[in-house]
Amino acid sequence: MGINYRFVDENLKKELVELRRMFHRFPEAGWMEFLTTCKIVEYLDRLGFKVFYGQNFLKPGQRWGQPLERFVKESMLNAEKHGVPRGFIDEVKNGFTGAAGVMRFSESGPVCVFRFDIDGLRITESTKEGHRPFELGFSSENENYMHACGHDGHMAVGLCLAKILSDNRHRLKGEARFIFQPAEEGCRGGQAVAESGFIESADYVLGGHIGVCSLKKGETAAVKGGFLCTTKLDIHFLGHSAHASNSPESGRNALLAAAEFVLSANAIPRHSGGATMVNIGVLNAGEGRNIIPDTAYVEAETRGETQRLNEYMKTELIRRANGAAAMYGCEVEIEMAGEAGGFASNADLKAAAKEICGAMGEGVSYAEKNFGASEDFSNLAVEAEKYGAKSAYFTFGSAVKGVHHSPEFDFDEDTMALELEFFARAAQRFMGSED
Ligand SMILES: [Zn+2]
Ligand SMILES: [Zn+2]
Repeated sequence: MGINYRFVDENLKKELVELRRMFHRFPEAGWMEFLTTCKIVEYLDRLGFKVFYGQNFLKPGQRWGQPLERFVKESMLNAEKHGVPRGFIDEVKNGFTGAAGVMRFSESGPVCVFRFDIDGLRITESTKEGHRPFELGFSSENENYMHACGHDGHMAVGLCLAKILSDNRHRLKGEARFIFQPAEEGCRGGQAVAESGFIESADYVLGGHIGVCSLKKGETAAVKGGFLCTTKLDIHFLGHSAHASNSPESGRNALLAAAEFVLSANAIPRHSGGATMVNIGVLNAGEGRNIIPDTAYVEAETRGETQRLNEYMKTELIRRANGAAAMYGCEVEIEMAGEAGGFASNADLKAAAKEICGAMGEGVSYAEKNFGASEDFSNLAVEAEKYGAKSAYFTFGSAVKGVHHSPEFDFDEDTMALELEFFARAAQRFMGSED
């Protein structure tokens, strides 16, 4: 099955794989992408892009879901050990990771934003037989972290796309902006990017994902909807510790409050208005066997098919957190850790994508799908709408091993060439000069 490649040659195909494997070997979780950002900045700089990072990229403001201090320290040390200069780390720490690369082709013309996410996950990668990254020797060298969602591939495609546009700069008009977004996982970084100023006066905002929506290899889909609205909350239960047998009555048991909350959160009634979800992903509590636990920490999320449904879930969740705390005489602090809304790709861009797929040959087919998950690309799209920009989100079918966010996850590396060709053709279509 042939794909008609106009922009992606054998060298680029090789480079895609090399870049993907390089990023795969050093996954970093959201807001801690120190080495990752450094590599991106170096690469874009070499291509002649105007590169923005640190506080020149993201403004102080919305910093949802900052990681725990001990994880940040550990990640900074690891990055430094792998050769990232201390000065660079200082510029991007405290929630200023990620980068933007801008190239202006002509005074007038469209502004095209390409967004790629860069974070890995706190997952320990599989060392089982049959897990290709392990067998081929490019599995994670950053203990406890893994690129288990394909963002390593997204970065490879983003950088190679930047290369294609840079090589073709004399044939393009307008301005290309590449956004390498931190902390997509948990929908934390999107709002910071939306507020960064890099969406301002955009005409097109494009993003995508490898291997979701149950597509087969060679299938490309424009997401027609189904982005689930979501809210992520960090919940701290604060009690009072006491001796477990000498004076249990003077304690306030935060662990029990949290446990009560977790069970009742999962008992929120479903809603007749559509799909809703709740998940408690983290519960940490207690210091020792004979101590009444005085703190408990919970990471929770709600989702809903619509904003209203997610609001319902969020309100019910918060009611239960307050109720459980009151029951055990504890205090509760609830922090917003991420949020994203619904999204549907623009109709004109869907039509363009269909034509592009048609022109890419019989190895590529086009579909329109519901996303069925959450993605904070929607926060960028909301901002883009203020400027009348058209936004679209695409998914690229890949023979995926394991499921996303599992230790066995891997995708078919051929997918990257298809995705790159697709975006290069889209860039040519939107920014190509007349001659
Ligand atoms: Zn993910
Ligand atoms: Zn992802």
